[in-house]
Amino acid sequence: MQCSKCRRDAVIFQRYSGLHLCEHHFNRDFEAKAKRAIREHRWIESGDTVAVALSGGKDSSAVLFFLRRLLGERRDVRLMAITVDEGISGYRDPNQARKIAESMGVPWVTATFADEYRITLDEIVARKGTGLSCSYCGVLRRALMNRIAREHDVTKFAYGFNLDDEAQSVLMNALRGDAERLTRPMREAEGMVPRIKPFMYIPEREVALYAFLHVEGFDLAGCPYAGDALRGDVRGILDDYTYRHPATKYSLVNLGEALRGAERPEGEGLRICERCGEPCGKICRTCQVLDEVRRS
Ligand code: SF4
Repeated sequence: MQCSKCRRDAVIFQRYSGLHLCEHHFNRDFEAKAKRAIREHRWIESGDTVAVALSGGKDSSAVLFFLRRLLGERRDVRLMAITVDEGISGYRDPNQARKIAESMGVPWVTATFADEYRITLDEIVARKGTGLSCSYCGVLRRALMNRIAREHDVTKFAYGFNLDDEAQSVLMNALRGDAERLTRPMREAEGMVPRIKPFMYIPEREVALYAFLHVEGFDLAGCPYAGDALRGDVRGILDDYTYRHPATKYSLVNLGEALRGAERPEGEGLRICERCGEPCGKICRTCQVLDEVRRS
């Protein structure tokens, strides 16, 4: 099949636009969308230090490559990468992430659950089972990332979340009836480093193609604890529905953004944890999780 914009061979067909695109026009289209997302949200400003949360997988490796290309010549914005090793055997070799960052000339730092919390995710799962593994993992990783960010004057975290991830999250929150998450403001609470998601309007398969075209050595293995049954179901339902109605994932992401534009009622902002000093409710969720996983 030929590219809809030139005569070269197409590397992808976009059902939602009806276009076949060659590698050159795919890259232009992809990067234009990511740049537009950054511009419209005013995600990157002069003086920023942007840290990519680099797992070594396709999404985070692709966002590191894209931001290196976008910001490489700028002297007023710093780019770095952070890899958190949760301690999951057979998954996330931090050396892979280090090699990817080094190949792009991006400064890289790493930290481990074992050093920070004196417990690995494997040990948490051995004590508590897999039911809440992602919940524990997410809370502890976020707190650790925030601490590293303060040490390195990071002003933004960049994540490789794509359109599929975002649309699934909106639908999952709706199916759970989780109004709090659906309406939680996009603006981060004081003390938390704001997150940016340049690929949030780009389908997962296009992010994967971009990674294959530009990054060598990224990790294809999935986390052994990624057994969220609801997300799996929602992914299947959405993919099936989107095949017949190609704009559905965009509609869900737009709905999520519209709902999250609402301001948090006064007095519901975060405070400082009485125990560890991190931003939180009263005792922060990180301290609650550590109590839960160490107690058993
Ligand atoms: Fe952590 Fe869950 Fe992601 Fe695995 S899938 S790294 S347990 S959040």
